[in-house]
Order: sequence, then structure tokens, then C-alpha cells
Amino acid sequence: MKPVYIVANWKSNKTVAETRSWLESFTLPSKDCTVIICAPFTLLHFLNEQKLQVHLGAQDVSPFGEGAYTGEVSAKQLKELVEWVIIGHSERRKYLKESDEELSFEVLQAKQAGLGVIFCVPDENIHIPPGVEVVAYEPQDAIGTGKSEDPTRMNAVIAGLKKRSKSLYGLYGGSVTPQNVASFIKEPSIDGVLVGGASLDAVAFQQLIENAYHS
Ligand code: PEP
Repeated sequence: MKPVYIVANWKSNKTVAETRSWLESFTLPSKDCTVIICAPFTLLHFLNEQKLQVHLGAQDVSPFGEGAYTGEVSAKQLKELVEWVIIGHSERRKYLKESDEELSFEVLQAKQAGLGVIFCVPDENIHIPPGVEVVAYEPQDAIGTGKSEDPTRMNAVIAGLKKRSKSLYGLYGGSVTPQNVASFIKEPSIDGVLVGGASLDAVAFQQLIENAYHS
């Protein structure tokens, strides 16, 4: 069976108290897959201390190193708490105006610190910096809309992106649910999914992991 990545993106959701109750409702299914929870910075220390079976990721990293960059969180600081970082999510491109150049510096910082990079690609032609292990194709119209894309078409796009970027793995993201996850995972070039909304509820997320292998 191929390795499968299931990545949760909690975005700007959850307090520590809410995270505690999410964890109380969640049991990691014993499946041969890598589950990564990408949480807000404010939760990473708490989550790290829980010694969970899941892996941890951040949702952004500073394009600078350590030093006089007020408000930024450096890759070196993140590396104490997480193994992964999402870079280039379409919401950051849209609301924070992150540019291709800035994202290239973020990837460089993450790689230098030894973090795994999940690089989000909102359209097929976007620049993908070198050194990205995991590329996540997330068509903007599919994010948070309930309108997931066609798995067969996504398979072809992700195969092309993996080849172009020399990434090892390709994920699909956009309105993935416990009901549709298997239709993406069964595609040969799709190595996993990036999940926003459906990861916020512990029971739904557990069900999504369970269903990832059902045909
Ligand atoms: C996302 O924001 O990365 C995402 C895939 O969100 P959703 O699953 O809610 O569409």
C-alpha cells in the first residue's frame, strides 16, 4: 500500500482549551499513514508537550532568519516544536500578499532549519521553489466551498506538478471530507490530502482517516 499523508490545516482556529477537548474526542486510527496537524503558532508548544502519535506542522515561517524581525517566527524556533511547515497557502497569498520571492525565502529558511515543506499551489503554473518535498495542489474555488474537484483531473495535474518540481509527494486540497477522501487517495499520483474544515471536528477528522483507504 502506498504511503499516505493526511494533513490538517487548522488555520486561525482553536484556543488551548478547545484543542484539549478536540484531543479528548480524537483517537488516531491505526492506519499506515502519516497524519500531520498544522496548528496556529499559539498551540504548538501545548501540542508538542502532549507527545501525540501525530506529527506537527506550522502554517507559515518567517522568510528571515533569527534577529530583529518583530512578529516573525523563525524556522529555527519552529524546529524545536514541529517537523513540518505549510508554505504558500492561497489565503496567505491573497490576504498577506505573499509573493513568489518571499515564499522562496521561506522555503530556504525552512530547509536550512531541517523542516519538511508542504508547498501549496493554487494554480498549475505557479513557481515552485527547489527543495520542496510535498506539493499540495489546492484550486482556490475548491477551498472551503464544499465543491471538491474531480479526482481523475486532479491526479493528472498533481502528476505534472510532482514532475515539474521534483517533489516526492503530491497532495490534493479543497473541500475534502470523510465522504470523498477515498476517491482522491485511490488515484495513483495523489499521495494524500490537505484538509481544512473537516479537520476542525475531531470525530469527522478521525472518520476521514478511517475512510482514506476505503474504495
Ligand atoms: C485549506 O484551506 O487548505 C483547505 C483545503 O480547506 P478546506 O478543506 O476547508 O477546503
